[in-house]
Amino acid sequence: MSVHAVRSSGPADCDVVLVGAGLVGAALALALAPQGLRIALIEAQPLGRMEQPGYDERSTALSFASVQILRSLGLWPAVAAHASPIRHIHVSQQGGFGVSRFDAQEMGVDVLGQVLPNHALISAFLDQLGRQADLVVHAPARVTAVHQDAERMRVRGEGPNGSFELHSRLLVAADGAESTVRGLLGVGVTRREYGQSAIIANVTPSIAPQGRAFERFTPDGPIALLPLRDARCALVWTLPSLAQQWALEISDKTFLGELESRFGRRLGPFQRVGHRQAYPLTLVRSRRMVEGRAVFLGNAAHAIHPVAGLGFNLALREAVILAEMLATAQDPGDRDVLEAFEQRIERYQDQIVGLSNALPRLFGQRFPGLGHARSLGLLGLDLAPGLKTGFVLHAMGLDRDMPALARTGSLVGGGRP
Ligand SMILES: Cc1cc2nc3c(=O)[nH]c(=O)nc-3n(C[C@H](O)[C@H](O)[C@H](O)COP(=O)(O)OP(=O)(O)OC[C@H]3O[C@@H](n4cnc5c(N)ncnc54)[C@H](O)[C@@H]3O)c2cc1C
Repeated sequence: MSVHAVRSSGPADCDVVLVGAGLVGAALALALAPQGLRIALIEAQPLGRMEQPGYDERSTALSFASVQILRSLGLWPAVAAHASPIRHIHVSQQGGFGVSRFDAQEMGVDVLGQVLPNHALISAFLDQLGRQADLVVHAPARVTAVHQDAERMRVRGEGPNGSFELHSRLLVAADGAESTVRGLLGVGVTRREYGQSAIIANVTPSIAPQGRAFERFTPDGPIALLPLRDARCALVWTLPSLAQQWALEISDKTFLGELESRFGRRLGPFQRVGHRQAYPLTLVRSRRMVEGRAVFLGNAAHAIHPVAGLGFNLALREAVILAEMLATAQDPGDRDVLEAFEQRIERYQDQIVGLSNALPRLFGQRFPGLGHARSLGLLGLDLAPGLKTGFVLHAMGLDRDMPALARTGSLVGGGRP
């Protein structure tokens, strides 16, 4: 990895200041790089500090469309060796008879998506960023003040060597769910505490997942198992917050037994669990995506429930749509362009946020008779081909208004079919 930090003492002019080099900020920087824009990236952490690969590495499920975008950005060769394909998705409910199955072959594709370790994704992003001539990186550095007027944004940052100032025509905040930039610009959020935590760990079942991903709804919350290499699975187990400490502290043997009692034996008895981590779950959604010459992306725009692994897929879609719309803009902070961007992403974003919000609530309700209705719903989904196709197209990130990078591999030529 070869991204190096650069610092300037006086105000520096650029076209785009991007705050946050997480998965979303880094992806946008790469999508913007070929446009000849002068980009400054500010990241709070030293670049290169990332999880070490190993049994405990964290993973992200990428939709079919996200994989296409990574291919278009030239990233796929660097990550392909780490990827595990998803060829089947199996959705079920604990204590219910309905099951729904989604299959790549039925959809006429080789894979529905891919699971990638986060370290492989981040390394590939940072390697590629290190090759961009027009990119200046300030890391580690934090944004401390933001001012905007009609013509430009003025951004102050603070790093180990002191403060610096950048002027830009567009400011993109990809600085996480508790976005500093969003706060400095006075944009509020809608916040919903789920009262749930996600327990993340890698587990080894006795039967290799072989391209199968599982989503199992239990009364306490959904359990997702994603296929990984070496016959392992990435587990995302959603539990009530009150059970978080219990799930972290019980022995490995008890943990695996409790998991099996909820998930069942589709993959045989579980044999091993790695390090467990807890993520308290809160929906945080920015009230606006655009504020003057500033745009919010990724977790800074919407940190959603991980129930269906949609958060990064949604954010990547929006990042490359923004890059696509800026490709033909005279001024990257132009009000009409940013408003058109906001309008273009609004409907799909509402659907995905709504879905990720509704699923854990629907399957978490304990009213008599509802379990039966949900089972019938899953069964219905499995039997009704049209409904099922619509559902799986969503999971694959395919819709009528896909970004050009997912559709044609270039920043122009996509959009509405
Ligand atoms: C348990 C769990 C499982 C998930 N699984 C999936 C999945 O399978 N598929 C999927 O699509 N999505 C998944 N997601 C969602 C996905 O993780 C997020 O969508 C994604 O991480 C968002 O990335 P981001 O870059 O927007 O934010 P972040 O990862 O939060 O990055 C923000 C960056 O900004 C930097 N920063 C913060 N403040 C400042 C500042 N003031 N100045 C400069 N820099 C700053 C931070 O250091 C950080 O690098 C999951 C989420 C969870 C919680």
